[in-house]
Amino acid sequence: MTLAHKLAEERRARLAAERLLELKQAELFAANRKLGLHARKLSNEIVETRAEVATVRTENERFKSDLFMANQKIETAERRLWHSIETIQDGFAIFDADDRMICANPSYLVIFDELEEVAPGISYARLLQLITEEGIVDIGTTPPHDWRAAMLERWEKPNPEPTTIKLWNGQSIKLLDRRGSAGDVVTLALNITETVRYETELKAERQRAEAASRAKSSFLANMSHEIRTPMNGVVGMADLLTESPLTEEQELYVSTIKNSGEALLDIINDVLDFSKIEANKLVLHPAEFDLERCIHEIITLLQPSVREKGIHLLIDYDIMLPSRFVGDLGRIRQVLTNLLGNAVKFTPEGHVLVRVVGVDQNREAASFHVTIEDTGIGIPDEKVDHIFGEFNQVDDERNREFEGTGLGLSITRKLIELMNGEIWVTSEQGDGSCFGFRLTLPFAEGAQTEPCPLPEGISNVLVVDDHELNRQILERQFSTMGATVTCARDGLEAQEVSSPDIDLVITDHNMPNCDGLELAQALRNKGIDKPILLLSSSPRFAENDPARPLVQAVLQKPVSRRDLFSRLANLQNAEPDPVVAPQRPAAVQRNGRRMRILAAEDNKTNQLVFRKLLKTLEIDLVFACNGIQAVDEYQKFSPDLIFMDISMPKMDGKEATSKIRDIENDTGHHVPIVALTAHALDGDEEGILAAGLDHYLTKPLRKPEIFERIADALPNEARDPFPVEETP
Ligand code: ADP
Repeated sequence: MTLAHKLAEERRARLAAERLLELKQAELFAANRKLGLHARKLSNEIVETRAEVATVRTENERFKSDLFMANQKIETAERRLWHSIETIQDGFAIFDADDRMICANPSYLVIFDELEEVAPGISYARLLQLITEEGIVDIGTTPPHDWRAAMLERWEKPNPEPTTIKLWNGQSIKLLDRRGSAGDVVTLALNITETVRYETELKAERQRAEAASRAKSSFLANMSHEIRTPMNGVVGMADLLTESPLTEEQELYVSTIKNSGEALLDIINDVLDFSKIEANKLVLHPAEFDLERCIHEIITLLQPSVREKGIHLLIDYDIMLPSRFVGDLGRIRQVLTNLLGNAVKFTPEGHVLVRVVGVDQNREAASFHVTIEDTGIGIPDEKVDHIFGEFNQVDDERNREFEGTGLGLSITRKLIELMNGEIWVTSEQGDGSCFGFRLTLPFAEGAQTEPCPLPEGISNVLVVDDHELNRQILERQFSTMGATVTCARDGLEAQEVSSPDIDLVITDHNMPNCDGLELAQALRNKGIDKPILLLSSSPRFAENDPARPLVQAVLQKPVSRRDLFSRLANLQNAEPDPVVAPQRPAAVQRNGRRMRILAAEDNKTNQLVFRKLLKTLEIDLVFACNGIQAVDEYQKFSPDLIFMDISMPKMDGKEATSKIRDIENDTGHHVPIVALTAHALDGDEEGILAAGLDHYLTKPLRKPEIFERIADALPNEARDPFPVEETP
């Protein structure tokens, strides 16, 4: 190998080594750079981690301090809570799900009288055992075992009812226990001794107040009795005086005495009712009654003042509404009497119309409106609400001439509200007023099926009346029954419109131009023989008219549906019926023995009034001055009827009646006994009827009521005691 060759080789090797070196250097350089980058990244990461560690450390510090503060707060709250629980006067304890005490405050523990055993861990059952054994609780006569069993049974319930226990020292503790979802129980023992004492005091106070109220009621009852008894004498005697010959001046004096006496009695009644309502003492006594009859009875009583004023009193009773309901007749009559009495009082001319309309009805009950419409002086708008208040009257010139207490409407409203009804009024000053009320009452038994019949063969009816409202009422009633109605304003017009198609004529008696009986004559002359019913305000007068036999019946105006229906039913017997409204027993006769009446009454004036009231009757009347005499006379005299005063010396009317009823138990004979009493307070009637009396009349006595009782009790074998004009 040549040198050159060797040199070349060497150069080549050197070059290769140099290239390798370069390569390695480049690699080293790259590795160095990478290392540098990595080192930088690492040092960055270290920096970041250090920062994070610092943050975490700070946060940790904060958490620690928060935790510390929270712990402190919890401790404070717990301390305060316990402090409070320990401070409160009421006992507080917690039991676990196994009924073992976890903790309790001193008030809870104090009743155990420092028994060491009573501490956390004790069971509820053991606590009960201790308090009965140590006599801590006053369990009365209950055996301790039973008492504990009852307490445990209560405790084990999911929601134990609060209960009150009494401690040996008279303190009352109310236990309120609440079971949590985990089964542990929080129990509160409230010391309610003060409340119980307060309640007892209140109860005693209430009893005292009730006793005072009872005393007031009995004072009112006595006052009413004391005033009514002499008033009976005053009104009764004045009544009798009016029947004797008097000069005009004397007549005025007597009627003033009588009217003042009656007004005074009304005021007493109003004041009594008002006090009863105020004391929530007014109780309703529902019984079966006839609403329509009640309205007619009130109207009969108002008839004298209505006639005197020359106004018309009309009734429009819904032909489809039954009339027998269950309600407090006395109170409903009071409401109607007040509203109707006011309507008549404040109506100088025109009419007063009572309208009864059924508004809703099912099988058991009906709601109805009763409206009393008048054409009187009316009420100014601004006074309409005012008049239902106590002692409130419209105070203007037109009103001042009328008497009254201003209590009537307030009592009426309260009575209606007591019966769950509503009352209202609409009025136009100068034109009249309309008072209305709504009541819902159950039907009396069988009332739902009360018929409203139109006899067979009657389909065309001619109604004749000069009073437009009356005509309208009759027209509507007969149309509702299914008839075709023709109306005429008087007898002359009736003759014009009457045709052979007419099956029935209902005519008013008293009409201008041609009255009802003249119309009957004219129709009969024309050969029309269809039934005619005459409606008359004075049927007795019509009865004496020679033309009376031309009509089938004379009916008292305003006619009741009962009268109308029974007359319609009687039309089938074509014979005219001469009896107006007979209330007399079928066996009335003019011969036979005299009826025997015993009246027990200690007050001489009242005896005199009673004797005078009955003076026109053909009866044997005997008086007894007390209950003992009454029983005695009952045995000696065998009366057909007894009027029995209730308060009498020696033996009162109730006791005398019981004795008579005892005697009757052996004889099997029942004599009707009618109580006469001045007592007007609630409960009297029941008390009296419970004593065996059959009826009840309040003083001052009214002749028609007494006559009605006599007519009812008249035995078949006795002669009719009533002179013809005194028929009840
Ligand atoms: P009284 O009639 O005893 O005064 P009420 O309470 O019955 O008491 O009536 C109160 C007042 O309401 C009456 O004084 C009268 O001013 C007014 N009033 C009642 N009814 C009517 C009526 N139908 N028409 C006009 N005013 C009436």
